[in-house]
Amino acid sequence: MQGKPRIAIIGAGLGGTAAAALMQRAGFQARLYEQAPGFSRLGAGIHVGPNVMKIMRRIGIEDALNDMGCHPDYWYSRDWETGEVIAQIPLGDYALKHYGASYLTVHRGDFHKLLTDAVAPGTLFFNKKLESVADQGDAVQLRFTDGTVEEADIVIGADGVNSRIRETLLGAEPPKYHGLCGTPRRVPDLARQGLHA
Ligand SMILES: Cc1cc2nc3c(=O)[nH]c(=O)nc-3n(C[C@H](O)[C@H](O)[C@H](O)COP(=O)(O)OP(=O)(O)OC[C@H]3O[C@@H](n4cnc5c(N)ncnc54)[C@H](O)[C@@H]3O)c2cc1C
Repeated sequence: MQGKPRIAIIGAGLGGTAAAALMQRAGFQARLYEQAPGFSRLGAGIHVGPNVMKIMRRIGIEDALNDMGCHPDYWYSRDWETGEVIAQIPLGDYALKHYGASYLTVHRGDFHKLLTDAVAPGTLFFNKKLESVADQGDAVQLRFTDGTVEEADIVIGADGVNSRIRETLLGAEPPKYHGLCGTPRRVPDLARQGLHA
């Protein structure tokens, strides 16, 4: 491999676009391959914590996110049956002061649009559904369902829950339900116990 490595990212969801934008800002050649023909305003509200906002700061979209998002003062968890508050976590100004960035809620589609716009022009390719990936020693060959073939030095799988890359590396593995979403359990009030900082 001579010069900068050619990095191919498979999947242009929130993960792939963020990875591409960060790597491009760090001076790497990163290209994104997405199976969809394009993106529409999909999804609903998504929470974005201060840790993620600090990454968005590096990408340069923190201010735009702050402008479009809502800034809740608290996170409340309630008992599903009685409505009783079982956890109350301070956010708003508290998050800004203690974590160094805001906590906000935003439409996933708007967030995704900001991230796709942050990817360098001409490096996001639609209608590129990865079919197979093969390590050829000095490069990795990527085959897409439209018959095209690309080469890269490094391949990053950001192709979601049914990842073709993961399947190639680790074998087929259907998603397993771990039972973590179901009967709500009582959790302690972290804010009252002073465990939130
Ligand atoms: C209902 C719900 C609510 C959520 N709420 C939150 C929240 O509040 N806060 C939070 O931080 N997270 C939340 N999440 C989780 C968050 O949405 C996911 O972790 C995140 O979107 C995953 O991003 P990703 O880029 O890894 O995968 P994805 O968004 O799934 O993107 C994968 C991309 O890869 C593409 N792709 C797949 N296969 C191929 C292929 N073979 N070739 C090319 N492209 C391919 C897909 O088309 C897609 O665009 C929520 C998730 C759900 C379902």
